[in-house]
Amino acid sequence: MADTKYIFVTGGVSSSLGKGIIAASLAKLLQARGYKLTIQKLDPYINIDPGTLNPYEHGECFVTEDGAETDLDLGHYERFLNVNTSQANNVTTGKIYQSVIDKERRGDFLGKTVQVVPHITNEIKERIQILGQDNKYDIVITEIGGTVGDIESLPYIEAVRQLKWELGEHNALVIHLTLIPYLSAAKELKTKPTQHSVKTLMESGISPEILVCRTEHEINDDIRNKLALFCNVKKEAVIQSIDAASIYEVPGLMAEEGLDTITLKKLNLKDDVVPDLEKWNFFVDKLKNATEEISIGLVGKYVDLQDSYKSILESFIHAGAYNDVKVNVVWINSEDTEHNETIYKNLDGLLVAPGFGERGIEGKIAAVEFARTHKVPFLGICLGLQMAVIEFSRNVLKIAEANSEEMDPNTPHPVIGLMKDQKDLKQMGGTMRLGAWDCKFEAGSKLSEIYGTTEISERHRHRYEVNNEYVEDLEKNGMLCSGRNPKTGLVETIELKDHPWFVGVQYHPEYKSTVATPHPLFLSFVEAAKKFRK
Ligand code: GLN
Repeated sequence: MADTKYIFVTGGVSSSLGKGIIAASLAKLLQARGYKLTIQKLDPYINIDPGTLNPYEHGECFVTEDGAETDLDLGHYERFLNVNTSQANNVTTGKIYQSVIDKERRGDFLGKTVQVVPHITNEIKERIQILGQDNKYDIVITEIGGTVGDIESLPYIEAVRQLKWELGEHNALVIHLTLIPYLSAAKELKTKPTQHSVKTLMESGISPEILVCRTEHEINDDIRNKLALFCNVKKEAVIQSIDAASIYEVPGLMAEEGLDTITLKKLNLKDDVVPDLEKWNFFVDKLKNATEEISIGLVGKYVDLQDSYKSILESFIHAGAYNDVKVNVVWINSEDTEHNETIYKNLDGLLVAPGFGERGIEGKIAAVEFARTHKVPFLGICLGLQMAVIEFSRNVLKIAEANSEEMDPNTPHPVIGLMKDQKDLKQMGGTMRLGAWDCKFEAGSKLSEIYGTTEISERHRHRYEVNNEYVEDLEKNGMLCSGRNPKTGLVETIELKDHPWFVGVQYHPEYKSTVATPHPLFLSFVEAAKKFRK
């Protein structure tokens, strides 16, 4: 294999067209032909990472094995490709400027005036090419966040222009994702916004090789011809991306349109292998043909924006398909649930979601109590585990004032406490317990049975922990702390002895569920909910 090739994905006309899904779908199709790929996201905002962002701003914060707090698109990349991403796969304007300014302070620029061009653009080019180093990947796909024409995207577009020129023909290409709106009054699909957004790209010196057109209706030959002529692309490079019932159907649709074939042709890469999509198609078939339905209540405080819990929702889709059921997620606002049991009616399972801060926690505790006393399958993730421990301490151990130091720093009974190494931290960004940590289960525990092993590693994102001083009391009364970090002794999982399926995990299993390897905890939880329904 020669040097790594680069594909850039830009977006035009509107945000939220799904650049991440198109990038992941193309990567899947190329991976199925034996190519090695990774996908990177460049985000034009000034935050160093989305770790400090409210989920309502930007959706879920996805966490990688190496502890990067990243854009949720990285979750899609991992779920589609079944390959881990890392710190290098998500770069923000904040990171770019931070590193350029650090270099300036060190004197690296030897007295030169530091400018957007070339210093910021060079830094961007470097961050893109880091992934291509050592030829670890045949192809690197870089998704440029934002919409072409935005002020903040300009340095990225300029960096792409330079890189494309430096790498030369057949080594780099630009795919422009755009919207073809349908005007119902005129009963017509309109190409003008796309023409304008391509023109904007051309003003920056980039002529995209491939257009991917998001549309609600089939685009006919006339429209394809028109787009080709006015946007300077070959007709075969006009790819329709029609709305799909599920994101997992997009690779199939892109294959039908020939997105992979034209990409390989433009990159001068071999197209002589029949793509191996057997596993993928098996999953999509199961997903489409699920016969039964179950309902899981998701208790959280960001329920108005579903992107806040993206990885959890996708994990349910994976686990549902492999269990032949459709999982309906019923949103329960944790601020509404106090003492209102009717909302749990007709639910086959309850999940208490991760989260931060005091708002809505009494509602989460009430939901745990309902699941525990009514024997409803229950999964508590991170804050959800912490709420389960508080509920058990208050209602079973009869410690009325049991609380988390996060909610009440002066509580006399901190059953959930701040880790020692977190106590003196002044900086909020990037300072939680992050990324992959080992966990060892007690032999014979429910968790070891679910995972089929006693040694696992899962990803974390939290500051608070179960307080070991209360563990003996919890265990004596039926809450088993079944998983521990082998080095620190910190509690990683809890389970109830006297309950069909009640599990809390301090880590985030949802970050590791993929199409090829659905997560065992979600598989088992969905199975238990299916049983409960019967
Ligand atoms: N707020 C809790 C902590 O920091 C839980 C975090 C989470 O749910 N991700 O420990």
